[in-house]
Amino acid sequence: MYKMMTPGPTMTAVSVMEARSRQFGNPDVDEQFCEEYHQVCQSLAELLHTENDTYILGGEGILALEAACASLTEPGDRVLVIDNGIFGKGFADFVKLYGGQPETYTVDYHHPVDVAELEAYLEKNHDYKYATVVHCDTPSGVLNDISKICPLLKKYGILTVVDAVASMFGEEVRVDDWQIDIVCGGSQKALSAPPGLAFVTVSNDAMAAMEARTTPVASFYCNLLTFRNYYRDKWFPYTMPISDIYGLAEAVRLVKEDTGRIERHHRIAVAVRQAVKEAGLSLYLEYGDSATVTVVNVPEGLMDRDIIGTMKDQHGILISGCFDVLAGKVFRLGHMGNNANEDDVAEMLSALTKTLNSLGFVCRCDMKEIFLQCL
Ligand SMILES: *Cc1c(COP(=O)(O)O)cnc(C)c1O
Repeated sequence: MYKMMTPGPTMTAVSVMEARSRQFGNPDVDEQFCEEYHQVCQSLAELLHTENDTYILGGEGILALEAACASLTEPGDRVLVIDNGIFGKGFADFVKLYGGQPETYTVDYHHPVDVAELEAYLEKNHDYKYATVVHCDTPSGVLNDISKICPLLKKYGILTVVDAVASMFGEEVRVDDWQIDIVCGGSQKALSAPPGLAFVTVSNDAMAAMEARTTPVASFYCNLLTFRNYYRDKWFPYTMPISDIYGLAEAVRLVKEDTGRIERHHRIAVAVRQAVKEAGLSLYLEYGDSATVTVVNVPEGLMDRDIIGTMKDQHGILISGCFDVLAGKVFRLGHMGNNANEDDVAEMLSALTKTLNSLGFVCRCDMKEIFLQCL
């Protein structure tokens, strides 16, 4: 098996895999499970610095995004879709699917949203029920400053849906301080559990907006209102994937224990980028990178699939290409969650140096050496 150095899924701790293989009871009948579920939700809320209700949903990260849009959107609602990346733009589809009118605020994909420019736009245009914004837009690796964007939107009475799937636990996310109404997360990124679970935190304002709907949510599975009283009623809208949740509980425990993780993600990310640049490669972003992923332009004359194939076949390390408008243009080095450790990243960079050299792009240095010097 290869070492998975992709921007999610990541390598998973043995104890997480063991937790998933535990014997399990009936999550619908046994109230003890409700208690266990509640505890994991509380831990997630604590890590995200929020008092808001937190729910784990049985589905991959995308479910959180769709559930947020499904639950908030009523036919005709105007929604501001902040688009400076592929996931950012993608929110417009969810809004449309549930009858809303997305209005896309598109800016350059090579850097984060300029908050002053957004503010100028909002002064003239602010008649929106909610706005969507991506924290780390993984295909480009851009990190938007949601600590400023969300309070700004709140000032205009606009609710916020934040996709922090690829940033949280590698970058700080402070839901209450930053007034985020719904934050979306997934199990397979910096939390380093296998794919399969999503989670959301829901503010009182967001819950009030859902309760004030005059039309029903056009989905059962994506309806966050169905979770509202789960703890009081000891009832879930569907049978919870209990083994996945046992794995998640262990992953959350490990993240909680690892108090130096944000600092380590940043230190490793800075050193990776320095090494990549010194080798003569170029980064996709001008500035504003997330500490969880590095996105590198495919050098002239090379093919992304050759780089990725050689890394996997000759060195046993899986890195990632990209999709949509960035397909074939960049390759991505994941250093999030369990992969944000010096040894694995050094091994990846050593292999990448050899790979590029063998394909005809002569690196100006051994990226591993520069990486280790910069740590
Ligand atoms: C991974 C990811 C998701 C979850 O969706 P996938 O099906 O894994 O693509 C959502 N948003 C972002 C920004 C992600 O990186």
